[in-house]
Amino acid sequence: MNPEALGLFEKRGERFLLEVDNLRAAGVKVAGVYCTFAPPELIRAAGAIPVGLCGKRQDPIPAAEAELPANLCPLIKSSYGYAITDTCPFFAAADILVGETTCDGKKKMFELMGRLKPMQVMHLPYGQDADAQAYWLASLRGLQEFVESHTGRRVTDQALAAEIALSNRLRERLLVLAATSAEERPLLTGRQMTTVMEARNFTVDQAAYLSDLEALLRELDQRRAEGVFAAPERAPRILLSGCPVGKGSDKVLRLLEECGAVVVAQENCTNLKPLHQPTDTQGDPLTALARRSLATPCSCLTPNPGRLALLDRLIAQFRAQAVVDLTWHACHTYNVEATLLRQHLQATSGLPFLHIDTDYSDSDSEPLRTRLEAFLEMLR
Ligand code: SF4
Ligand code: SF4
Repeated sequence: MNPEALGLFEKRGERFLLEVDNLRAAGVKVAGVYCTFAPPELIRAAGAIPVGLCGKRQDPIPAAEAELPANLCPLIKSSYGYAITDTCPFFAAADILVGETTCDGKKKMFELMGRLKPMQVMHLPYGQDADAQAYWLASLRGLQEFVESHTGRRVTDQALAAEIALSNRLRERLLVLAATSAEERPLLTGRQMTTVMEARNFTVDQAAYLSDLEALLRELDQRRAEGVFAAPERAPRILLSGCPVGKGSDKVLRLLEECGAVVVAQENCTNLKPLHQPTDTQGDPLTALARRSLATPCSCLTPNPGRLALLDRLIAQFRAQAVVDLTWHACHTYNVEATLLRQHLQATSGLPFLHIDTDYSDSDSEPLRTRLEAFLEMLR
């Protein structure tokens, strides 16, 4: 049986829509975001409410393919499809949009999407050195001015510092939650963990999210004491890495768990990747935000050594027995990094590695199930 407190996170999307309806009537703006590089702290400090709009479902993809090439990743096509078909209530609720120049497909798609609503595209550097930091800081300033011009509220250092402190607190508590999966017997499945993590993208009041999180942590303490666990003893412990995964695009996560594995950690943007480090609370808050966000180990950066370091840390902390690397079709950056990951693991821990390249459709579910069963068999 699911933990009762999980329901608080499953319903967060519906609650978000009701809450923003009232707030928008009072003049508050909603900013649709598509990437971890768009810092929610800055958007909130400027008086707007961020909402994650990354498309995670197959349904709007055919409509997107009428305007975009079919050989783009499903995340880009799903996001654009939702925008042009007006079938996503969260997109409808967004007054302004924030894009970034991450991968080629996404940044070019934003040129089309930007015709639908006011949009700021943040320019992301490829590297992480001092010049790149300065360039990225200028992009953050551009975002700040854009949001301010729509909300009419100036970002003060105090407001930004307060948002950073709250966000750091949230990160810390989410890491405590994630750490329950490092235990001998995890208390949540990978899919349940994703439900909680993903819900933070649909949150008006972060203090309320934090209080739901505390309720879940208390319930998990109780379940541990009662011996109620999320997976059978000795279930193979998998680290899932790669492209973002969420409700609707959790095919591989679901199949892994249906095949008897327990996904103990997820190195992706829906889960642990954005939580990798807190924002520094000393010095200029915008500079600290730029430093922390540019440290995100995304494959759009080159080189991207932070990803291998994060992978090593997660393998050790969660005692993963194997890595399953999930990439979406036509995601060139993550697809190329799959080779880097494989070679890195061969040269270090020697952990078994499986690369799965797929899309949002269910057409390959059965062949995938067979591959995963064979892979997991090796671990038993
Ligand atoms: S994987 Fe990279 S491009 Fe995708 S959401 Fe994360 S940071 Fe953004
Ligand atoms: S999954 Fe890959 S191709 Fe798709 S938007 Fe993210 S980085 Fe770009």
